[in-house]
Amino acid sequence: ISAKEVSSFFLKRAQSLNPRINAITSFNDHALAEAEKIDEKIAKKESVGPLAGVPFGIKEMFCTKGLKTTAASKMLANFVPPYDATAVERLKNAGAIVLGKLNQDEFAMGSSNENSLHGVVRNPWDVTCVPGGSSGGSAAAQASRLMAGTLGTDTGGSIRQPAHFCGVVGVKPTYGRVSRFGIIAYASSLDQAGPIVSSVKDAALSLEVISGFDKNDGTTSQKAVPAWSKQLNENVKGLKVGLLKQCMSGALNADVQKAVDNSLDILKKSGAEIVEVSVPLIEYAVPVYYLIAASEASSNLARYDGVKYGYRAEFKNLSAIPLEDFYGETRGQGFGAEVKRRIMLGTYCLSSGYYDAYYTKAGQVRRLMVQQYQEAFKSCDVILSPVTTSTAFKIGERISDPLAMYLNDIFTTSTNLAGLPGMSVPFSLSAEGLPIGIQLTANHFDEQRMLNVGLALE
Ligand code: GLN
Repeated sequence: ISAKEVSSFFLKRAQSLNPRINAITSFNDHALAEAEKIDEKIAKKESVGPLAGVPFGIKEMFCTKGLKTTAASKMLANFVPPYDATAVERLKNAGAIVLGKLNQDEFAMGSSNENSLHGVVRNPWDVTCVPGGSSGGSAAAQASRLMAGTLGTDTGGSIRQPAHFCGVVGVKPTYGRVSRFGIIAYASSLDQAGPIVSSVKDAALSLEVISGFDKNDGTTSQKAVPAWSKQLNENVKGLKVGLLKQCMSGALNADVQKAVDNSLDILKKSGAEIVEVSVPLIEYAVPVYYLIAASEASSNLARYDGVKYGYRAEFKNLSAIPLEDFYGETRGQGFGAEVKRRIMLGTYCLSSGYYDAYYTKAGQVRRLMVQQYQEAFKSCDVILSPVTTSTAFKIGERISDPLAMYLNDIFTTSTNLAGLPGMSVPFSLSAEGLPIGIQLTANHFDEQRMLNVGLALE
């Protein structure tokens, strides 16, 4: 089968099914021509990469040369970048075909994909439910096989939580593994990119392709990228799996609880040792995360001022408009409600008089949280926990209650705060037939062991 045939199959499937779930925001008109080029290379026996001809969908957060990159915001509704994000460039160099762009929450702020310029994404398992967020389009497109692979971003759970809600594999690598160059910034000290795909092996391979040092991102690590996909090994004999105490108290829905118990049983039967570990400061992960994320977002989003690029409000007599009004109108019209909420919260936290009480304090708690994780990893190799307390919720159910929405991130945000790699691996179905994933977290740069345990659970 040729690369062109594969792309054309996925393209047709995506075009006919997408209207039901709204995961894809735009298609790449050149996809088939690009696939043809791969076929030509193969015919000429030229070397092609490990992803030759594999159709990928890319979250709207990633800059894609010549393809609209909106961040699902009116602010960037017509933005067509002149370059590719490093992660996208590396996918393409490996032979992948970018088939289209994928829906998300505006500027990746949200847990349900309900805050989007392009409208709500529906969960393919039950179209009355959310797919999770903010990479809801990636998870939904992957779950319904509209793409062979997708990329998402994860600032506080945006890869792992939608992967859990949609029954696919999502990996957020160690902070610094994947370049953030060309990814629209939300909260720079937390943002990481990673794959949302159908199997642990696909995750290992695509992560391998996009990882590694990039001179354009000073926070990328110089560490060599292991051949994760080749070294995958489901043998967990003798491995210590830490059950996170903080995730097992109360709040869990019965199906999620059962999935966690069953996953532990499987690992125990395969020879792993289960130990209880504790990261007490996880109790404060949500407030600390929202403080830091909102603060960094308020600073990162200051660039959208209507002057350089992006949306600009219309004015009858531009030269007579005071600058403050110019910014106010532009930003007032360009940003959605959730983004404005975060900008206001972040600006407040960073303002003089409050900075030390909020931002500095949150940074201190974050540092202590890292130490507690390091302590926990002295007694285990990989930490196991639920991804969220429940399965996918109904569309509209939490949209008017931001706090309830934020609490959904209780088990995912600490991973980003500590810069650790984390993944969600599909494990079982709830009584209503909705997917349940298991979250695995490993120590910095120990993706391999995390992926191995993922494989054992898959
Ligand atoms: N739900 C979290 C938020 O709204 C996480 C989002 C993300 O990881 N991009 O900030």
